[in-house]
Order: sequence, then structure tokens, then C-alpha cells
Amino acid sequence: MSAPAVRARFAPSPTGYLHLGSARTALFNWLTARHAGGELLLRIEDTDAERSKPELIDLIFRTLGWLGIDWDGEVVHQSQRADLYRDAVERLLASGQAYWCSCTPDEVKARAEARGGKPGYDGHCRDRGLGPGDGHVVRFRVADDGDTVIHDEIRGEVRFPNADLDDFVLLRSTGVAMFHVANAVDDLDMAITHIIRGEDLLNATPKILLIRQALDPAAPAPTFAHLPLIVNEKRQKLSKRRDDVALEDYIARGILPEAMANYLALLGWGPPDGVEIRPMPEIIERFALADVTKASAFFDVAKLEHINATYIRELPVDQFVNRSTHWLFTDTPWPAERFSAERFELLAPMVQERVRTLSEVPGYVDFVFQADPTRDDASWEKVMVKDPALARRMLEAAIAGYEALEGDAWQLQAINDTVIGYADANEISRKKAQAPIRVAVTGRAVGPPLWESIEVLGRDETLRRLRVALDDLPS
Ligand code: GLU
Ligand code: ZN
Repeated sequence: MSAPAVRARFAPSPTGYLHLGSARTALFNWLTARHAGGELLLRIEDTDAERSKPELIDLIFRTLGWLGIDWDGEVVHQSQRADLYRDAVERLLASGQAYWCSCTPDEVKARAEARGGKPGYDGHCRDRGLGPGDGHVVRFRVADDGDTVIHDEIRGEVRFPNADLDDFVLLRSTGVAMFHVANAVDDLDMAITHIIRGEDLLNATPKILLIRQALDPAAPAPTFAHLPLIVNEKRQKLSKRRDDVALEDYIARGILPEAMANYLALLGWGPPDGVEIRPMPEIIERFALADVTKASAFFDVAKLEHINATYIRELPVDQFVNRSTHWLFTDTPWPAERFSAERFELLAPMVQERVRTLSEVPGYVDFVFQADPTRDDASWEKVMVKDPALARRMLEAAIAGYEALEGDAWQLQAINDTVIGYADANEISRKKAQAPIRVAVTGRAVGPPLWESIEVLGRDETLRRLRVALDDLPS
């Protein structure tokens, strides 16, 4: 069997959450692999002992699973491969492509100042023939001239003049290999063909490539793709301090995984036919790294919510009900025992049409499950206080009408006709006529369709709320 044309990898460092940018990187790797019928490998870059806690790594697995991203083969953990990296450094030492250096950072700095030239390491120990020793590091011998060149699917050919690179450190004085070594060794060892990652790693690329070429000059050059930066509405790089950058923030907000995956696919890429909201198999079919732009991608929360609302509306109602469950039982503005699945299901189709995120669901039905609806001050002010005479008139008309709807007469049409009929007969705008009823019954000026809400709430409770509101009206 021949090797697959694409062997991509997602190589996150555990940080305690999955950054949106990392999620997008994972998705673009997955799309590239799945489009080509190739493979996606997962490598955890957990050389930093602090960050290699199992729960942090589990979080990566869980969030990838939530997004629908699967991977092939065993997960590779860098924390278990330190020997491999040390061996690689040994080989570079043996071939003369690396050397020991005993310079302290202060010495490096002092010499740079004395030179009056650019800061950085001057190659002082290149030919001193040093061996290991206290405080010694291993450095890579970078050629003085020539370029290191990559082929990037998004940026084309990118050239890095070697003269711009110092002899960088491969092995710290603690005996631990640097990120660049581990990264280069693993991509070779895992036979990775496509290195797809964030633009922030572009600067590290020449070092990684130099190590790779020194270790295995015969290995075919990988295809690179450095994905554009993700920015907020001020065109600033997304930051933990300013923005919600963790995928978990959006999970908690009730973004559906399929909507999130669809939206992430649009961060730097768009399908040739311009149809942005579509099922993942269609995205896989159309995805091409060559169509990814260099320009920064704006993370537009409103657009994400729009896409999410579209996906929510398309769910079968029973799925919408199921997927709302978490939000109906967590931190709800009603006592748990007052919740009724039956009543929720009656309202569900209407709620589904209106919410942008699942976390908005409780706000559309809370009035049904609360003993008294939470009164929204702005709504009360606008509807009840601005025109108390009209409010009184409508509340009284509704109370009189609903008192008459006993038993089987409590029907949607009759509930509607009671108020609308009164409004029409008295030449009151229907919108104005309904507003006091809605605020009395639900506490707010906006919400799901009123008559259905009232029907679900029931006659007695509706009448009680109308009377409470009437009592509270300013005279
Ligand atoms: N572990 C690196 C990071 O999370 C990514 C390395 C790579 O993709 O090459 O930033
Ligand atoms: Zn030195």
C-alpha cells in the first residue's frame, strides 16, 4: 500500500483551554486530510511539565470531539519522547552541525554591545571544541549565507535569509531540547507531509526546517500552510484578556458544535460558490488550502450567532428540546420543581425560531415556570407607565374576556380574538393593545408568540397575572 498523499497533524500545547485559533488550526488540518482521503495525526506538545497535566490534555480531546474532529492512530505525547530529541541533538553534534556553547546570557549581551551591532549570539563557541559542562547549551550552526526557503500553500514561496538567524539553541543547559527540535524530529518521525498551523509560528519555521534538513537531508520537503491571524472587531489579535478566546466559552453559551465548525471553516477560507452555511461533508469536498487568504480573519460573533440560529432552526423539534436540556436545568431563573417538560415542548417550536444560542432559551420560557414573571423595568416603563390609561383598558378587557372563556372555551383562537377583537372594535392598534397583556403575563415587551404563551400558561394563572399588573398600574 502506498503512503497517503496527505498526512497532516494537529500539534497543540496544553494550555488549559482550546483557543479558537487552535480549534481553527485543528479544523483546517482535518479538512485537508479528509478532503484528500489522507490522515490526521494528533500530537500533544507537552514538553512543558507544568502543562502536561492529564486533565488539560483531556480537555483537548473533549473539545475536538465536541467539534466533530477525529484523528487517526495513536496520540503522540512529546513528554514521552525526550530521548528521541536528545538523540537528534547528539547526531547533529556528531555531524558538526551543532556545537557546545558555554556563554552566559550576560556574556552574549556584553559582546553584542561591544560590537555595537545587532544583538544576539555571535558564534563565539563555534570552533572552540567544547563538550558538555555545567551551564553549557548546544547550538545549531547556521550557514552564514544562503536562504532557507519554504513552500507555503497560502503565502507561496517564503525566503528566510540565513544571515538573519543566530546560531540558535537546540539543547538547554538543563538537558531539555527546545521546541524547535521536538517539532522537527516529530514531523520527520511521523512522516508528516502537511504542516498547517497559525501564522504566529512562521518565524519559527526556518529554524525548524534547518534542523529537519540537517537531520535528514533526503526527506521530502513538507508542504506548509500558515493560517491567517484571527482578529476582533478592532482588528486586534484575539487575546485572553479582551475576548472570549476559549472554545468552552462558546460551548457554554449554547453554540451548536456543527455551527461552530461551520463558522470556523470560514475564518480565512470561503467556498468558491460563496454558500457559507452548509453541511460539513460539503465543506470537506470544497476545502482547499490554496483558497485560504493571507488577510487576517475577523472573528465576528454576530455572524457566528446568525449561523448558529440557522442551525438551531433547522433542528427537528425533539432534537432542539433535547439539546436545550442543559440550559433548562442549569442556573435557571425558576425553581427546578416548577419546570414542566410538557409545557416546554408546547412552546419549543416557537422558541426555536427565535433564539440565536441555546443559552437564550430559558429567557423565552422562564415566565411559564416562575411563580411570578421577572418584571423587566424598561418594558414596564415603556408599556405600563407611559400610557397607564390604555394599559388599564386593555388589562380590564382581557380579564373580562378571559373570565368568560371557561372550560373548553380556553382555546388559542378565542384567546387571540378576545384582545384583538376588542382592539379592532375600539380602533386601538393591535400592537399597542397586546403590549400591556404581554408585559403583565411574561414580564417583558418581547418574547415568543403571545397567544400561544397564554394558552400554555393557562387561564387561572393568566388571569392572576393580569390582575396583579392591573393593581400595580400607576393611577
Ligand atoms: N505546539 C504548537 C502550538 O500550540 C504548534 C506547533 C506546530 O503546529 O507546529 O503553538
Ligand atoms: Zn558560546
